[in-house]
Amino acid sequence: MTSQRTRDRLVDRLREKGITDERVLEVMRTTPRHLFIDEALAHRAYEDSSLPIGQGQTISQPYIVARMTEVLLEKGVPDFVLEVGTGSGYQSAVLSRLVPKVYTVERISGLLDKARQCHREIGLRNIYTKHSDGSWGWPDHALYPAIMVTAAPEKIPESLLEQLAIGGRMVIPVGTVAGDQQLKLITRISATNFDEQTLNAVRFVPLLDGSIR
Ligand code: SAH
Repeated sequence: MTSQRTRDRLVDRLREKGITDERVLEVMRTTPRHLFIDEALAHRAYEDSSLPIGQGQTISQPYIVARMTEVLLEKGVPDFVLEVGTGSGYQSAVLSRLVPKVYTVERISGLLDKARQCHREIGLRNIYTKHSDGSWGWPDHALYPAIMVTAAPEKIPESLLEQLAIGGRMVIPVGTVAGDQQLKLITRISATNFDEQTLNAVRFVPLLDGSIR
């Protein structure tokens, strides 16, 4: 059920849905998504759906992981990337195989511990994690040429806009959990000017601010 054949089938499905970047498809084909999911759900790891990972959170749908990654890399591979919302650690694992360095921030320590363990187990050494509120970004390593946010704020946090390098790209779902959420691509044109494009309708857990646990 976690065989190469089921993974190949997932990649076929991603192609059908419009993912064209071969680098992304290859990484999706060879990253063991089942290791980032509870054993009881591992048999569903290569279905194109989001799944619960505990603490009321979810691992994103593979199509959305592929889409966000493809959009982020469309104009070239950045030297490093900031992810907000480590969750299971799957998205950061995918990124780490395409981008030299991945910084990722998570507010729930239990999830972060599991994610780190998974990264260690599969030998990914270019992922740097931090337990904190990601709506503040991770100022130590700013400015970022690429930012990916995997939880939805109602409004894009100022700190994340400030930490985006000029020419940098941010992929972020924006909207309410009950209502409409849109995946946006933000490009920083200059110090004060940002371009905004709307991509897909999506459904993410909310980006919570304030507390960590
Ligand atoms: N990228 C993840 C998807 C995780 S779901 C994966 O590949 O599995 C979104 C995650 O964002 C959750 O784990 C949630 O705890 C986290 N999150 C929500 N608000 C946050 C915040 N303000 N700072 C950091 N992480 C946050």
